[in-house]
Amino acid sequence: MELNFDALVVGAGYAGAVCARELAERGGKRVLVLERRDHIGGNAYDRLDEAGVLIHQYGPHIFHTNDEAVFRYLCRFTRWRDYQHRVVADLPAPDGGRMQMPVPFNLTSLRKAFGPEEGKRLGEKLIAAYGAEKKVTILELRQNQDPELAKVADYVYEHVFVHYTMKQWGQTPDQIDPNTTARVPVFLSEDDRYFQDEYQGMPLKGYTPLFEAMLDHPNITVRLGEDAIPRLGLDGDVLTVDGVPFQGPVVYTGAADELFGRRFGPLPYRTLDFRFETHPVDFWQSHGTVNYTVDQDYTRITEFKWLTEQTGDKTTIMREYSRAYEDPATQIPYYAIINDDNDALYARYRRLTDALPNFHPLGRLAEYRYFNMDKVVADA
Ligand code: FAD
Ligand code: UDP
Repeated sequence: MELNFDALVVGAGYAGAVCARELAERGGKRVLVLERRDHIGGNAYDRLDEAGVLIHQYGPHIFHTNDEAVFRYLCRFTRWRDYQHRVVADLPAPDGGRMQMPVPFNLTSLRKAFGPEEGKRLGEKLIAAYGAEKKVTILELRQNQDPELAKVADYVYEHVFVHYTMKQWGQTPDQIDPNTTARVPVFLSEDDRYFQDEYQGMPLKGYTPLFEAMLDHPNITVRLGEDAIPRLGLDGDVLTVDGVPFQGPVVYTGAADELFGRRFGPLPYRTLDFRFETHPVDFWQSHGTVNYTVDQDYTRITEFKWLTEQTGDKTTIMREYSRAYEDPATQIPYYAIINDDNDALYARYRRLTDALPNFHPLGRLAEYRYFNMDKVVADA
């Protein structure tokens, strides 16, 4: 491999950047990082747009974790600003106008949906059934036989989950992996934050500077705009880089099917289109993210200034449109579609590299999983 590196890392997102740092610092290895994009940070990349607003180019990223070790680790590379993400559902109201209610659906949402008194009574009934401050998934709630609680479940399913999930996945909540809707459970609480994790916040200067700090080590060389696939090969049971056998660790954070020319067929993904707009106003919407849970063809709108607490007389918003991932040349695979068939297909690809002792598939793409940032950092 070029210039005698000891380790190769493919991808400069969380999985790649943490491994590069660890290999360089603790392992004392000279690490080459190949990143296909023209920037580091993977999907957590942020940058100033033309209006000077700090945007998240690949969708809103809010750091949250209960893993103290992960938080402490990242504290080496960034300071934090406390930020608690709040999301509302925006949907048609019975009077013909629109209404908003907290998501995850909570006791406040219940009162907005059913009126103050009836909402309060139903909230007490839910608490009697499940316990105060409990989180109940929508699929679990729909199992409830009590006619009144079944009515609540139907309401939440219809007004929060079914249409949004159809837009996001092209399937209903019953058809997708139950862990997906379980990310946003009904919460029997007044707490209207999107996450309840112990450590939450935004990197003080943004995500990209965090990655710059992580990759800033004399043993690390980062090459941007370089696709690793053409350089990786197999010679019998031995991994090759640029045609030469390579015994050092190779951390691969790209998609599993791409490594093998999709020989067993493509791994299914959902992709997103992001449409950005800048407006000459201080703030454009009431919350960091507004979910359109019943109508519209986009799933949600994020206004970055809520997340970043940037000031200024302009603001940038972003609409998210979810689609089937069909064209690797122009689209990015954002969400693995987890089900038994796709897991089995992934396993076939995975078996091709399992026998290679120095090859380490890692991260959301290479492991075909729905990982948050903290999980990827922990695993890396
Ligand atoms: P990635 O960030 O995808 O990095 C992989 C990198 O590898 C990419 O830069 C890619 O270009 C590069 N690469 C791939 N193939 C090759 C190749 N052949 N050669 C060279 N380079 C290659 N998590 C949270 O915790 N909180 C959130 O609020 C949150 N919001 C999200 C919103 C959206 C819309 C999405 C899609 C994800 C969100 N996540 C969030 C998840 C978060 O993005 C991931 O957990 C994290 O980015 C995964 O890091 P990674 O390194 O595994 O993958
Ligand atoms: N979801 C929903 N309505 C909402 C929010 C979430 O139906 O208002 C469902 C939907 O299926 C979504 C999943 O819950 O894909 C997980 O939501 P989350 O906000 O965690 O998704 P992400 O931020 O990862 O896109």
